[in-house]
Amino acid sequence: MLTTLGVPSVETLISQAVPQSIRLGRPLALPAPASEAEALAELSEKMNQNKVLKSFIGAGYHGVHVPPVIQRNLFENPAWYTAYTPYQSEISQGRLELLFNFQTLVSELTGLPIASASLLDEATAVAEAMGIAWRHHRSKKNDVVIAGELHAQTLDVVKTRAEPLGINIEATEIGAETAALIVPWPDTYGVFGDHKATIAAAKAAGAIVIFVADPLALTITASPASLGADIAVGSMQRYGVPMGYGGPHAGFCAVSDALTRLMPGRLVGQSTDAHGRPGFRLALQTREQHIRRDKATSNICTAQALLANMATAYAIWHGPEGLQAIARRVNNFASRLAAALGIKARLFDTVTVTVSGNAKALAAKAEESGLLLRVVDEDRISVAFDETSTEEDLQTIAGILGVTVATEAPRALPQNPRGGEFLTQPMFHDHRSETEMMRLLRRLADKDLALDRAMIPLGSCTMKLNAAAEMMPVSWQSVGGLHPFAPAEHATGYKAMTDELESWLAEITGFDACSLQPNAGSQGEYAGLLAIRRYHQSRGDTGRDVCLIPSSAHGTNPASAAMAGMGVVIVKCTDDGDIDVADLKAKAAQYADRLAALMITYPSTHGVFEEGVREICKTVHDHGGQVYLDGANLNAMVGLARPGDLGADVCHMNLHKTFCIPHGGGGPGVGPIGVKSHLAPFLPGHVFGGDGYAVSAAPFGSASILPITWMYIRMMGGSGLKHATEMAILNANYIAERLKAFYPVLYKGKNGRVAHECILDTRVLKDTAGIGVEDIAKRLIDYGFHAPTMSWPVAGTLMVEPTESESKLEIDRFCDAMIGIAREASKVADGTWPLDDNPLVNAPHTSAETIANEWTHPYSRTIAAFPAGEANFASKYWPPVSRIDNVGGDRNLVCACPPVEVLAS
Ligand SMILES: *Cc1c(COP(=O)(O)O)cnc(C)c1O
Repeated sequence: MLTTLGVPSVETLISQAVPQSIRLGRPLALPAPASEAEALAELSEKMNQNKVLKSFIGAGYHGVHVPPVIQRNLFENPAWYTAYTPYQSEISQGRLELLFNFQTLVSELTGLPIASASLLDEATAVAEAMGIAWRHHRSKKNDVVIAGELHAQTLDVVKTRAEPLGINIEATEIGAETAALIVPWPDTYGVFGDHKATIAAAKAAGAIVIFVADPLALTITASPASLGADIAVGSMQRYGVPMGYGGPHAGFCAVSDALTRLMPGRLVGQSTDAHGRPGFRLALQTREQHIRRDKATSNICTAQALLANMATAYAIWHGPEGLQAIARRVNNFASRLAAALGIKARLFDTVTVTVSGNAKALAAKAEESGLLLRVVDEDRISVAFDETSTEEDLQTIAGILGVTVATEAPRALPQNPRGGEFLTQPMFHDHRSETEMMRLLRRLADKDLALDRAMIPLGSCTMKLNAAAEMMPVSWQSVGGLHPFAPAEHATGYKAMTDELESWLAEITGFDACSLQPNAGSQGEYAGLLAIRRYHQSRGDTGRDVCLIPSSAHGTNPASAAMAGMGVVIVKCTDDGDIDVADLKAKAAQYADRLAALMITYPSTHGVFEEGVREICKTVHDHGGQVYLDGANLNAMVGLARPGDLGADVCHMNLHKTFCIPHGGGGPGVGPIGVKSHLAPFLPGHVFGGDGYAVSAAPFGSASILPITWMYIRMMGGSGLKHATEMAILNANYIAERLKAFYPVLYKGKNGRVAHECILDTRVLKDTAGIGVEDIAKRLIDYGFHAPTMSWPVAGTLMVEPTESESKLEIDRFCDAMIGIAREASKVADGTWPLDDNPLVNAPHTSAETIANEWTHPYSRTIAAFPAGEANFASKYWPPVSRIDNVGGDRNLVCACPPVEVLAS
């Protein structure tokens, strides 16, 4: 096929697509490729060095039993973990429905009406809540009061977020300047403090009250809303998600009605489809950074959808009674230990006891029995119980602390502290048998189109294969069972793996040091810009607060700059999508005294390797700025060129794009950054040995999914990675060649080639037939495809990224669909089908309407549902709903109504 298109060879094509001036002239210095079996054996030997003891450390991370029905049918099921973020609602109804139930769950637990569909972790959720309060007061009130002690890692993340924004988190008095009161519920020692008066004072002063709550405790205690909370945040980790040495876990956030429009992250709403049937969609999408850009004050994009869905499934599986039973059991252990120790504080699961200088010795003794206690300081020890704790553990710990526990808890918990039922929705009651639960997860997954069904050609998102061998280690106990604050000598396997991974990523990107801490690309941007900020400050260069960003940048870029305390100045792009170098030079000179950084995406968001990149970097350096390279498009570069060699000082990688971590239906992700040596001292630190500067709760962020990337690089080796990049570029150019007669291909490099993605201009169909890009996207569903990236970075276009993982067969199936759509549009253009009744504007077609008795359209049922003929018959994907009303979802944000299950038709 290549020769018929006149493409001589891969080498020639790559040399046409990737300018010689940026090429890495040598192979990557990485180990030779390993087979699946070899790589798994090597990694398992490494991770087996970890010592996984039973943890009573608590501090935001708890042991769990992952229900096997959820482990196998959701966590380890590609139908769930390979899905993309649910922007195309019609092919995402299953995960949208479960995320909607996540919101219902959080709303029920907190008593607050509106909950979002997950944040990155507990610490960032607290920081986001602080941001809501600050914005609510239009950045005019800058004091935050913290009532009692937060977990150390939460405090570090909040401190880090507050500093660039000028928020003072050391305020102690409530007053006119108070933006927010933060109440840890319970605090890091396990105590529910008496904050009634402080909360009342905060309310009187107009401050926002934020509760940082434990969602298991909330099943048997009064809701934060009833105690005065305007916002409640926390982590859903203990709802059946392994500790995983720190993550990934879903953070949660719920707010009062008045704060809805300030809420960061994604929100699922209910809407209706073209036939009036109920359906879900992401609501308030206009708030996403693509629209708000530098006015955005949160940069969250990829969140924790898969983990939010796991937590929801856990709640569905146990139901309210089951959750309460777990909570009471945990509380029973803690109360009995506290009583034996003579501790009277109100507590849930954690007992902190003073042991006068003996903390380390007692912890060592517990360790001999295989139990990990938390050494708070020399004089205090904490014991946190969880659902895996046993009576025997309690007795062992009591013995070590030298007390005898009674068989009864000192005071029985009130039977119904909430004053009413909660989680009464049928969803949380109808799936208590494994049969029902398994089928629920299957039914929901079947509504969605993930990578296990078809190519997802989303430009910039790099939806490539997440190989089974890469995924397997995530389920290992040696990977999932470790507490992030376990003693370092228990995590030597992790250390070996992360050291190696950091060095590989540094070699791949051409940098000197790496941080694996950021939980998503957006967090990498933020961490990288903070490193730049701190670098300037360290040199006494404190006036550098301007960030240059090209107009074509991803929306997270300006949002991250704003969070790092920088003002955004937009640099123009030329008509061919490159940075306008003259404009860049003018702006760099204009802001020479204030220039902090340039953020540049490479290859550009238009998919082009700009040859002027070195000159661009030099210009910025000459004016005292640093260069941040957005590496989301690294799949076009690995093995061929390195950001660090082009002049960038820092760059983030999206491990959930280029490096095979699955998208999980909207997260998890990992966004590590690589930096040049002069920025290395300013990388985010380790909480318990560091300087109180962190961008994620856990030192290694979402540590337990790092083995996916380790496996990928280990199996591919340097040569395999380079080959993958070449195939990705080849595939994109093949699509460009096949489709250019039907859709003009925008922004080719000077040799007429694209990089790893191509932008198809669909406006031709608008001009000739009145068919819009959305019609094409929805019609692709009838052909069995997820749409490419729509209207970004150019309105009215589709950005197609096939990746190296797709076969020629699948790529041809996609091209045939796109050509089929162009032909259909021509039938609208020539009047065969009217503009308001044709298969494109009516797409997608559900099975219900296709088999309905009545059929009034001017095209056949076969054309409606089987436009690709045999290619469709092989495995027809039926969307459960027809086109979803984009506005309706914004009006129905209420979470606590019984969710209507949208039946697959
Ligand atoms: C995906 C992407 C990001 C953001 O990454 P997240 O992991 O979603 O936060 C930033 N820039 C570009 C160009 C991207 O494609």
